[in-house]
Amino acid sequence: MRTITDTAAMQAQGLAWRRGGLRVGLVPTMGFLHTGHTSLMDLARRHCDVLVASIFVNPIQFGLNEDLDQYPRDLEGDAAKCQAHGVDLLFMPSDFYPPGFRTSVRVAQLTEILCGVDRPEHFDGVTSVVARFFGVIQPSVAVFGEKDFQQLAVIRRMVRDLAMPVEILSGPLVRQADGIALSSRNVNLSAVDRQRALSLSGALRELRAQVQAGERDLAKLVARARAQVDCDRLEYLELRDGDDLELLSELRAPARAFVAARYGETRLIDNLSVL
Ligand code: AMP
Repeated sequence: MRTITDTAAMQAQGLAWRRGGLRVGLVPTMGFLHTGHTSLMDLARRHCDVLVASIFVNPIQFGLNEDLDQYPRDLEGDAAKCQAHGVDLLFMPSDFYPPGFRTSVRVAQLTEILCGVDRPEHFDGVTSVVARFFGVIQPSVAVFGEKDFQQLAVIRRMVRDLAMPVEILSGPLVRQADGIALSSRNVNLSAVDRQRALSLSGALRELRAQVQAGERDLAKLVARARAQVDCDRLEYLELRDGDDLELLSELRAPARAFVAARYGETRLIDNLSVL
């Protein structure tokens, strides 16, 4: 496995692969890799000739008071995991944004709901960095996780709207045995908060069980689930259409439950298909 830190060198390699007719796969990450990330590498590996993983803690997707400085890092461990999961090239840019970078890619509406309410600039940072990654790396296929379900929807919309020649694939949300969604941020939780955070996946699973048992009263389902979440601040717990993310006024398939909650400085998200 090679590592490139220079953005111009990465683009030269991406263009050379493309000219040679190779199908390049990309898994973008912010590092501190876990099984959720490596499952995306395994998936990407089956859909490309050359696999690139990137590790870049993108400053423009963090708000001013968010946890950019506390974002965990483990470059050595990450490199070993990439190597073990078939990555050919690890891109860890040290000079990603050119001086005077002024461009922002914004997907309207989809970015103003759910996480966009408490993080109004977050998705603009995500689409802008992903668009630049696509320009630098020239992938034919890029893989994102359903853990960040809204992010996936936003990226699919950007690619469609701007006719970017990149196929977007998604991998399922990977959980620990006790149900908690794997997240690099889990390491920042105290032992007590780690235990309390189990209530996120617990509330979503219970909501799904009630739907499966025949409950169709949407307000009741959401109110019960909200009451089950043990956190410092519940940002949202909502039932939305699993395709277009529209808020549901009555229960119908495909329905997906979404939750975000704060534990001190740490913000966790989860989602689950319920119908
Ligand atoms: P991050 O490093 O958190 O920016 O995530 C990089 C990619 O890994 C994104 O596409 C995430 O959706 C995905 N990802 C993170 N956690 C998980 C998980 N538990 N299961 C599946 N994909 C994940």
